[in-house]
Amino acid sequence: MKIHEYQAKQLFRRYNVPVPEGSVVFSVEEAKRTASALGGFPVVVKAQIHAGGRGKGGGVKLAASINEVETLANEILGMTLVTHQTGPEGRLVKKLLVEAGQLIERELYLSLLVDRNTASIVIMASPDGGMDIEQVAHKTPDRIIKVYIDPLMGIQGYQLRQVGFALGIPGAAMKQFSTLLSNLYQLFMENDCSMVEINPLILTVDDKVLALDAKVDFDANALYRHQELMELRDLDEEDPMEVEASRFNLNYINLDGNVGNIVNGAGLAMATMDIIKNAGATPANFMDVGGGASSEQVENALRIILADSKVKAVLINIFGGILRCDIFAKGIVDAARKTNIRVPIVVRMEGTNVEEGKKILSQAGLNLINAENLSDAAQKVAAAVI
Ligand code: GDP
Ligand code: MN
Repeated sequence: MKIHEYQAKQLFRRYNVPVPEGSVVFSVEEAKRTASALGGFPVVVKAQIHAGGRGKGGGVKLAASINEVETLANEILGMTLVTHQTGPEGRLVKKLLVEAGQLIERELYLSLLVDRNTASIVIMASPDGGMDIEQVAHKTPDRIIKVYIDPLMGIQGYQLRQVGFALGIPGAAMKQFSTLLSNLYQLFMENDCSMVEINPLILTVDDKVLALDAKVDFDANALYRHQELMELRDLDEEDPMEVEASRFNLNYINLDGNVGNIVNGAGLAMATMDIIKNAGATPANFMDVGGGASSEQVENALRIILADSKVKAVLINIFGGILRCDIFAKGIVDAARKTNIRVPIVVRMEGTNVEEGKKILSQAGLNLINAENLSDAAQKVAAAVI
């Protein structure tokens, strides 16, 4: 689960990771009030959306006076900000972070990630931070160092210094940097983060280190342990169909093809997407109703997929194990009664109680296309959209 920069910075403050003074605002008036309270210029006006690259897209600007704050807040609030991470449709800006501007000596890069290969936390750091970090990763990858932390050992003093040296932190700021990184590691572990990224971490002209930007991603599977973090979720920033699907515990990801599909089990869902591709069509989504889905979940899954206007045909591929075929068939019939089935639906069903399942479907008199096996199903659904 991603959160906004202003929320990430509040979390940083709780762990004594230094950030500039400032706060979130929702209107131009509020932006002016907050800027005056900061008591000096420049003031930075920053669009709050769940995507990076805001600086290059015109969503981060410096104001030298209160009039400029007003102009910039007017300009950025309500704009559709397009960055390399938003896609061409961009993101509507509904809030701003108004912050005290900093005098930057150098921009550095610092992040923590879960590294599955080594089952450790990896710290990535580069002295070449800032808006061109992707270029650095591409052209001079040796300028990014990686330090692996064993989660059972915790972060060690020598590792803090190793990162500090790699970043070229001057002696006068080394102690402050070590404390910052050690606090950041603690924040990462205690909140079950999957990623924390500071780009840029800055060295100021008076040798202070400060997180100028803040990106935090929590492991969604651990959120049940952190009720307080759930409150940071911003549904405005998520795909509305994915939000709807999550209400019913459906694993749904919106994609850009035109064959909707409903499958039980993530592995089978992957395989189904592959065979759809193989047959010359493209999946419109990934939808795993789960091994033990109820007929109500199946009903909601079909409703959500049919509400997607780009879906031109649906492939339902079910292997009845814990989810029995008859329960599943009942879900489809209920959904069909409540929803307008406007596209061809191909069903491939196999496993426990498959005969009962097929009987329920055929007696319902729905216009479903029956498939004998996986490749037959893929051929039939591809034929329906081509
Ligand atoms: P991003 O583009 O979405 O990653 O947004 P950032 O928060 O990283 O800001 C982009 C860039 O704006 C930074 O790399 C800085 O160069 C610049 N910037 C942000 N805040 C300040 C500030 O307080 N002072 C100065 N001089 N530049 C800033
Ligand atoms: Mn940044």
